[in-house]
Amino acid sequence: MESIKEADPEVFGYMNQELERQKSVLNMIPSENYVSPAVLEACGSVLMNKYSEGYPFKRYYQGNEHVDNIEKIAIDRAKKLFGAEHANVQPLSGSPANAAVFLAFLKPGEKFMGLDLACGGHLTHGSKVNFSGKIYQAVSYGVDKETELLDYGKIREIALREKPRLIISGLTAYPRNIDFKRFQKIAEEVDAIHLADISHISGLIAGGVLENPVPYTDVVMTTTHKTLRGPRGGLILCKEKYAKDIDRAVFPGMQGGPHNNNTAGKAIAFKDAMQPEFKEYSQQIIKNAKALASTLMDEGIKLVTNGTDNHLLLIDLRPFGIGLGREVAVALEESGICCNANSVPYDESTPFKPSGLRLGTPVLTTRGMKEKEMEEIGKWMADVIKARESKELKGIIRGKIRNLCERFPYY
Ligand SMILES: *Cc1c(COP(=O)(O)O)cnc(C)c1O
Repeated sequence: MESIKEADPEVFGYMNQELERQKSVLNMIPSENYVSPAVLEACGSVLMNKYSEGYPFKRYYQGNEHVDNIEKIAIDRAKKLFGAEHANVQPLSGSPANAAVFLAFLKPGEKFMGLDLACGGHLTHGSKVNFSGKIYQAVSYGVDKETELLDYGKIREIALREKPRLIISGLTAYPRNIDFKRFQKIAEEVDAIHLADISHISGLIAGGVLENPVPYTDVVMTTTHKTLRGPRGGLILCKEKYAKDIDRAVFPGMQGGPHNNNTAGKAIAFKDAMQPEFKEYSQQIIKNAKALASTLMDEGIKLVTNGTDNHLLLIDLRPFGIGLGREVAVALEESGICCNANSVPYDESTPFKPSGLRLGTPVLTTRGMKEKEMEEIGKWMADVIKARESKELKGIIRGKIRNLCERFPYY
């Protein structure tokens, strides 16, 4: 970062501190990851200088012969990685990608179904404060109050009653497998489009450890920066019969020029995800999540659904008091663990003062940590949760975490 240091010492100072933070804390935010140096280089490259409205070999600007080849590689790799008939690699991020899918299939005011935010859905799945809930008519489905699992019978019942044009499956805070086949069947029964939003789990699908919904799902959307470990961005995969609608919805429907630097980053990440090492990586993410889950439960910490099938865990802090999520997240941050406060299903408190904590293992696994480290971390977390006001305890654990981070360097 020599040039930044010289051009702008003020911004450089904060960038450097952020690098130090990423090195010295345990990043357990399940939607984050640490990208490879190759992806970092691609994203900071001269590719960002180029305007490329349109699609490969059909652009509205001259000078795109090299960008065309890069985008073509990214498309071909995405199709191969997920076994898709069609791929659009231009979405700038996950939310714009979902907006493009809505634009392709729904008129304003039309009805769709998505998982309730409080039960683990994303903002773009119909939240009142999001475009999805403002422009379209959102009907929510939730999880069962007792089992905290998706109830497919109930989801089918709602679909038959409401007749939505589109049904979204997918999660941001649901620690269990989703039966995408079941969703596709329900969608077909009511003549709706099924959008599988695999943003959180696409790396685990690419690595072959979770079932791939692409072969039988109408449209699949993912971010590229979560478990998939690529640059910030979105990716839409669909059946050939929807290819034109999706492409037109992304450009010119939703966006202007694609971010070519990130397209190159995506191509590199897709190549990485095809390697045997990535399979091991995704297997280890889940092994780590399960090891962390059983340690926490052994320590008397309650988990939503009593465990996990994927990379994320949701701690239910209600046995310690309602609305403690933020307070515990701050105490953990003071100890060197970064995760986020999150609502739990049927939370008695508000989204601003939620009763749960969401955490995951993608970054720790990228750093090379395994089950043994998860057991240590799980015990530290339980100690902080139980004695969150003890400055002494938080100081001791902060020291131990600094040592652990030094033993598992990444950048
Ligand atoms: C992260 C996420 C998104 C949105 O991604 P952004 O890049 O933050 O806009 C959409 N859907 C799901 C399920 C996600 O987890």
